[in-house]
Formats: sequence, structure tokens, C-alpha cells
Amino acid sequence: MNDAFELTPRDWKDWALFLDIDGTLLDLAPTPDAVLVPSTLPAVLNGLSRRLSGALALISGRELAAIERLFPEMRDAAGAHGAQWRLNGRGMDGIDGWPRSLADEVAARAAAIAGVLVERKACSLSLHYRDNLPLADTIHALAEDVVRRSPHPLRLLHGKAVVELIPDAAGKGRAIERFMAEPAYRGRIPVFVGDDVTDEEGFASVNRLGGISIHVGGGRPTAARFHLSDPETVRRWLARLNDLPRGA
Ligand SMILES: [Mg+2]
Repeated sequence: MNDAFELTPRDWKDWALFLDIDGTLLDLAPTPDAVLVPSTLPAVLNGLSRRLSGALALISGRELAAIERLFPEMRDAAGAHGAQWRLNGRGMDGIDGWPRSLADEVAARAAAIAGVLVERKACSLSLHYRDNLPLADTIHALAEDVVRRSPHPLRLLHGKAVVELIPDAAGKGRAIERFMAEPAYRGRIPVFVGDDVTDEEGFASVNRLGGISIHVGGGRPTAARFHLSDPETVRRWLARLNDLPRGA
């Protein structure tokens, strides 16, 4: 795979930049609340957003409120894998949250299985089984049963020792496509940087749109065409872009 580090836009009008957060911009931490935003990163992101005339968005599985706490100055973001959406600092129509009764039912069924942690968010429900990896098949069967029987269209996202049930209309690829239809992004080349299996939909989307897909890390097959080794390298690459002349 090609190293992305030397990639540079020919013109700042060419690129629209989409960045995953955990494992891409930020080093992974033992818990999601324990991540650290390096002190120089917000200024680099702001600088890049200005150079790109606003065509820069964060695309994360985190909920929008959590993204805003980490990056309060970022004006464009898709949260909860694109179920929540913010453009130009304003919340936009997203996908309705989970019906509480269905979430209650799934949580109760999962709670009966030892070693499963249920994480409820406004727009998704995650079943973590890091503490009991042999449970993978049981958990996947439960999740598939919920999707089959749900009156609301849902689908599964498989991550590392986690399966997440999200609204069928969500997904990082669709979030990127939705931004690309907005005036600040339209006509540009989408560039998406992500690390996890849930980012593969985003890679597929930008590949289809003639964009640039960049996978962070390694060790698994990916649709991405470019590579950066870790979040530290992503941050150095972004800082290098931000140091280019404005007329680049
Ligand atoms: Mg990530």
C-alpha cells in the first residue's frame, strides 16, 4: 500500500478532508473517556479547515456531544456513525434514536450472558465482549436475531470485540456522501482517514467517488489505498499540510 505521508493537495480547493477520531487523530486509551487531545492538534485542524474553506469534517462512532467536548471548535461533524450530524456549527436532522423498548429488550437479553457489556447510546447499542472473547458467536447470533425481528430497520457493525446495532440508514460512507452534497464540499476530492473496520464503508465510498482512502495502522485487509502507521504519524502529516503555503 502507498504511504500517504507525501500526499498534498495540488490546490486547497481540491480536497475535502474527513477524519475519524479514535485511533486516527487520537491515540487509543483504555476507556473512551481517557483519550487525550494533544495541545497543538486543535490549531492544526482549525488551520486546515480555513485553508479548505470549511471542507473538513470529523466522522466518528462517538456521539456528537462527545465529539463537541473533545473538539469544541470544529464546525462540521458526523456522530454515532453518521446518525447525528452537524454542519457549520449547527445541528442538522439526523436519524431518530433507538426506541427505548427495543433497547431495553436487547439490554435485558445481553445482560443474561456473562462477560458482556451493554453500551447504550442515543442512536446505537453496542455489545462489548472483550472480557469473554469465546462469546463472539453467541453475541453475533443475538444481534442478528434483534436485527431480524426489529420493526425499525437496523444493521450490524462489527468492531474489535464489539458488535454495534445502528439504524440502517447510518454509516460513515453515507455520512461522507451527505457532506459531499453540501456547497462547501461539492466538487472536491474526498479524503478519508480512518483505522477501524467501521471505517471500511467510508473507504469504499471515497474510492467510488474517486477520492483518497487512508488506513491508519495495519494488520488487517482494507479497501483503503493509502496508509499511515499510527495516530502520531497522522498528526505529523496534518501539521505538515497545515504548514504548506496558503496558495498550495
Ligand atoms: Mg477509529
